[in-house]
Amino acid sequence: MCLKKIVLFLLLMISFIHLSADIKVEYVDKNHTEKIAIKDIEGKNYLNVYELNKAFKAYIDEDVTEQRINVNLYNKQFLFLMNSSYVSFNNQPYNIKHEIICIDGRYFIPVEFVTHILPSLLDEIVSYDSGKQLIKAHSPVDSSIRRVYLDPGHGGKDPGAIGYSGTYEKNIVMNITREVKKLLEQEGLEVILSRDTDEFVSLKDRTEKGNQAKSQIFVSIHCNASKSKTAQGAEVYFLSTATTSEARIVEALENSVVEKYEGGAQALKKYDDLDYILMDLAQSEHLEESSDLAMKIQANIVATTKAYNRGVKQAGFYVLRGAYMPSVLVEVGFISNREEEKKLIKTDYQKKIAQAIFNGIVSFKNKFDQM
Ligand SMILES: [Zn+2]
Repeated sequence: MCLKKIVLFLLLMISFIHLSADIKVEYVDKNHTEKIAIKDIEGKNYLNVYELNKAFKAYIDEDVTEQRINVNLYNKQFLFLMNSSYVSFNNQPYNIKHEIICIDGRYFIPVEFVTHILPSLLDEIVSYDSGKQLIKAHSPVDSSIRRVYLDPGHGGKDPGAIGYSGTYEKNIVMNITREVKKLLEQEGLEVILSRDTDEFVSLKDRTEKGNQAKSQIFVSIHCNASKSKTAQGAEVYFLSTATTSEARIVEALENSVVEKYEGGAQALKKYDDLDYILMDLAQSEHLEESSDLAMKIQANIVATTKAYNRGVKQAGFYVLRGAYMPSVLVEVGFISNREEEKKLIKTDYQKKIAQAIFNGIVSFKNKFDQM
């Protein structure tokens, strides 16, 4: 063997060893790295498809019956087919050199997907340096819930409902909201409040502030009131057309802020114009999530406080309209009921309710983050 051949052989060996090593991922906008584990299968380099989740927060959907895997990363959809050495992107096939492999129910895709396909299709987001076995990429979008918007109802010139012995709704809900905020922050979540003092904020401004802050959950906190002094219990609403006459009464009560404090019929018209119909659509996108969040909070309130369970309901609250996130309105109890008002003004009971709302939010978050 001449020297030239030996060198060539050694180079080949090195490149072979090199290829079997893991691939490093460096995020250009974050001081953080990841590793994609490479597996040698019959002399070819593969990666477990879930490595894409680790490196790019990809959403992976294995459709075993259709024999295909949907992979969504950086909001782009890729489709892998069993027994095919092509990946489909925008209805175009791209060659990944080898067929994808299933071993013990785990799917492996050829390394070419991350070293060639991604850098060529998403060239502004991903690049690959074959010499260094290094991928440089934008840090992936983390869609887990990190920011919660809490909206204590009423405030300032608007006291909200007035209790059996004169308690103001605005004060009770402020206390509860601050407590929920404290608990969420202890969990490492960011919390934004629509108001943190006794000030008046219009319903429209409350929604807008939540959207602008790019919050991911919207919880409006209220006390209920009724002409019937015996009415009692907790209920949680999500936005929709009011389905029962009772729901319509609560809807009218919470929406009356607009007529009373935001400039009468003129202001009311503002909420009912076309813009707001469109904004209803924004919320309707999150209907299922909102209903889920409502159920989780309601279940926790009932379990923690033993309050009478009035259930989860739907109504058309202005404050939830136009919110681009799962949104609910919690009615923690009736301050028009003598007994319930007595409980609601106590710090201990307010803390119990706050704990329950917090538990509901966390349980929703845990489920949502896994999806
Ligand atoms: Zn209210």
